Amino acid sequence: MSNPSQRANKLFVQTFGTQADELYCAPGRVNLIGEHTDYNDGFVLPAAINFHTAIVVKRRDDLRFRAVSDAYPGEIEEWTFGEEGNPVANHWSNYLKGFTAAMATSGLAPKGLDIAVVSNVPMGAGLSSSAALEVAFGTAVNDCSQIKLSPLAIAQLAQRGENQFVGCACGIMDQMISALGEKDHALLIDCLDLDSEAVNMPDSLSLIIINSNVQRGLVESEYNLRREQCEQAAEHFGLESLRDLTLATLEAGKSELSDACYKRARHVITENRRTQNAAWALESNDIAKLSLLMAESHNSMRDDFEITTTEIDYLVEIVSEVIGDRGGVRMTGGGFGGCVVALVDHELTDAVVATIEQKYANKTGLEANIYLCSASDGARRIDN
Ligand code: ADP
Ligand code: MG
Repeated sequence: MSNPSQRANKLFVQTFGTQADELYCAPGRVNLIGEHTDYNDGFVLPAAINFHTAIVVKRRDDLRFRAVSDAYPGEIEEWTFGEEGNPVANHWSNYLKGFTAAMATSGLAPKGLDIAVVSNVPMGAGLSSSAALEVAFGTAVNDCSQIKLSPLAIAQLAQRGENQFVGCACGIMDQMISALGEKDHALLIDCLDLDSEAVNMPDSLSLIIINSNVQRGLVESEYNLRREQCEQAAEHFGLESLRDLTLATLEAGKSELSDACYKRARHVITENRRTQNAAWALESNDIAKLSLLMAESHNSMRDDFEITTTEIDYLVEIVSEVIGDRGGVRMTGGGFGGCVVALVDHELTDAVVATIEQKYANKTGLEANIYLCSASDGARRIDN
């Protein structure tokens, strides 16, 4: 019984001794292009994937929440709406309490729920199991109490919860794509005004995610450093964010900036342009163009933003040797390890998998996990 929905129903009965009323699910995601652009008011192009978190719930008449997850067997988390207390460091319930705390701050008043969670989004692999959890839960709370929040509003509350309660300074991308994803489409998000547009993905392409399993050290400090360098560069030109900086202005002021700030800004400016162009390339089925843009994005992350590792560069190199211009490949996510994303002609999928299996472990001593995905719908209620 590998279906998360069936397993969540079973877990609910085992935990609470009664059947659940409703079933909701929300997907994990992969970012196709547009890295470290979200907090610079730029563009990102993620897709929701066919790995998801299922939540089954039963309505309560009071303000109490009780939650169980099969990822942490035997623990039942309980809290009262508006009385979430202080977060316990690294505890999974922070993602749920963060959402209800954000609702309370916004003056929203849901009823309580009993909840069972089961997911097949791998945790901590960079596919955003945290957003899948928050958005599935938010969708359930919203629907059961008939609060009528839009998917975007649910994503914003989820982000606020993760920022303020979990203590992770993430952007809005993960929550937005989990809430708003569409089957067979990516979503071009303008992080300046949160406008978004579904972009058709050619059905000739397979979506492959490869987890390098590189241990991600120094991620938080390096991430914060990159944010500061971007802010410094924008400030130098008297701008709110790098969104408004042109390449020409940056080049003209190059000698006034540190080399690091200059290179970070160059990545963000060029990545914004590549992300918009990649959306057009996808929409118009121009795979050779997409291939080039994803390669340039990877090189920019390697040389200008300096967030790749030798193992990740190697993965990208061996996949790109197989696919040529019949697909694109690049690192995806915050960097210093994590995943590589490839969009490749279906005919080449087996060759890509075989190459990784033959070469990656030999060269690096690490085993990669390969996920064959498809672009999927965002969070929704499912008939239970
Ligand atoms: P990612 O979002 O890339 O998977 P994060 O570290 O942001 O990695 O989020 C992972 C955390 O989210 C887990 O450590 C856990 O606390 C929580 N989480 C995700 N999915 C579940 C789940 N199904 N059940 C309980 N907690 C979950
Ligand atoms: Mg996360």
